[in-house]
Amino acid sequence: MSEMFTDLLVAGAGAAGIAAALAASDLGLEVVVVEAKETFRQGSNTAMSTSMVPAGGSRWQAAAGIDDSPEQFFDDVMAKTKGTADPIVAKALTAVAPELVAWMTDRGRVPLELVTDFQYPGHSHDRCHAVADRAGQTLHRSLLEEVGRRPEITTIVPMRLIDIRHDGSRVESAIVETPDGSREEVGANAVVLATNGFGARPDLVSQLIPEITGGLYFGGDGSTGDALAIGESLGADVEFLDAYQGHGSVASPHGILVTWATVMHGAVLLNSDGLRFGNETTGYSEYAVPVLAQPDGLAWVVLDERIDQACRPFADYQDLLEAKAVRWADDEQSLADLIGASASTVEATLSAARSAAEGESSDGFGRTSWEKPLRPPYGAVRVTGALFHTQGGLRVDANGTVLRNGTPFTGLYAAGGAAVGISGHGAAGYLAGNGLLSALGLGYLAGRDAAGTN
Ligand SMILES: Cc1cc2nc3c(=O)[nH]c(=O)nc-3n(C[C@H](O)[C@H](O)[C@H](O)COP(=O)(O)OP(=O)(O)OC[C@H]3O[C@@H](n4cnc5c(N)ncnc54)[C@H](O)[C@@H]3O)c2cc1C
Repeated sequence: MSEMFTDLLVAGAGAAGIAAALAASDLGLEVVVVEAKETFRQGSNTAMSTSMVPAGGSRWQAAAGIDDSPEQFFDDVMAKTKGTADPIVAKALTAVAPELVAWMTDRGRVPLELVTDFQYPGHSHDRCHAVADRAGQTLHRSLLEEVGRRPEITTIVPMRLIDIRHDGSRVESAIVETPDGSREEVGANAVVLATNGFGARPDLVSQLIPEITGGLYFGGDGSTGDALAIGESLGADVEFLDAYQGHGSVASPHGILVTWATVMHGAVLLNSDGLRFGNETTGYSEYAVPVLAQPDGLAWVVLDERIDQACRPFADYQDLLEAKAVRWADDEQSLADLIGASASTVEATLSAARSAAEGESSDGFGRTSWEKPLRPPYGAVRVTGALFHTQGGLRVDANGTVLRNGTPFTGLYAAGGAAVGISGHGAAGYLAGNGLLSALGLGYLAGRDAAGTN
């Protein structure tokens, strides 16, 4: 093993790791980032995401006349999780979010804008900030370009963190490994675990989150639970291991995300019998399991031309169009033919939905948010339910420092999917954007704390 020393070693070059590296380098630290996968520019969760970062009280909101605040965002997080989210982490992330999105733009040169054309379930205001094409790859690329401009950050790919050495109370060094098995010990004052969760480990998923075991895994292949394993070996506290971000609409068999913006603009989900099976606007994360419970684990997102136009800014939606995954039907009869259901059932289902959307009757599933009724011709995309990422992990304090028996482990940080998120238990607590907020927010806080600033 050779000897090398850095102020901060970051494991993982997704949103969490890059935010930590940039924040620490802002404050003068030398940083080494090790990334296990050569494919991380396309294959990390960050690159696969739709780039939505929520912040209550941002300057973009102020410019748009939106009266929001960190406190209101915190209340929304607690409401969506029925009070179960870790309040210390939720408070820290909602408080730092306005500063975070400003920093991402001013220092990270990420061209963020406020999404005002629709609201994701559970957010009481327009507060998601995203890049113009709603593509995580664009956001990730901007951050990586900024890393490239900073000589104090060294990025080594492929290199995997496999262990941490410490003196009983503080971090001393990190053991990293190349794919050929060569190992190196890197001395470091601090280490940020930014290796995401364990979604790519079917054994752990079936043990810890059995309800989503049958779902498609639609996250990064680098999410192999390394932070959890390393943290547990150091005696770190873990929590919310049953928490995850699911999604009720990944096009099948195409494997392309069908944005839930379709639903928020008024789309419905039908099963192959032509029936709706719930209130789609409760949230896309908790809709994965109901979709998987339908015949063959499949359903159809049914939209119209207005919704089709509204979703075109999404890069994912453009990919769907290119793959011809959106199939068109002139009327209820041809939609029924397309999905293999009886025409009378499809007519009855869409007529009931239209009547609820027009306010003439109440919806049998309790849906009240429709934007507008669906009008023919109809577009239909066959979808399945999926696991995007796990949200439980190492317990951290408000600076991202890992806790052991409730006490901060000096110099050891966790951010993003490696740490506890703010989604409480299960799938239903996930508010759109909480994945990237936990990644970027905890990464930012950890990087600053490692430089002695928070
Ligand atoms: C389709 C999709 C859409 C999404 N959309 C959104 C959205 O719009 N908004 C939102 O907030 N969230 C979204 N999410 C969730 C979001 O992508 C994640 O929560 C977030 O990107 C996690 O960031 P991260 O840095 O923790 O993990 P990642 O981005 O996955 O980065 C972790 C990196 O660590 C590397 N790694 C793993 N182990 C090691 C090791 N031992 N040593 C070194 N490197 C290692 C991995 O290879 C990987 O590159 C979406 C997810 C998916 C799948």
